[in-house]
Amino acid sequence: MKIQAKESLCIAAGRCVAVAEDVFELDADGFVVDGEIEVPADREDAAFQAAILCPGKALIIVEE
Ligand code: SF4
Repeated sequence: MKIQAKESLCIAAGRCVAVAEDVFELDADGFVVDGEIEVPADREDAAFQAAILCPGKALIIVEE
């Protein structure tokens, strides 16, 4: 699974790292770091939950 993280949509809610802190990275201000994330197979369920829970829709699944 690949997820595109978009800082411009992030509202710094922190839910992604609450669900999958080893997958997502926030900057010092609490915004997700821009970029395409290759999600390890054993963390796909958690990453998927994070994408659903993200209130800014800032975590876009680009490849399942
Ligand atoms: S859950 Fe979404 S809005 Fe909240 S910090 Fe993560 S990417 Fe940003």
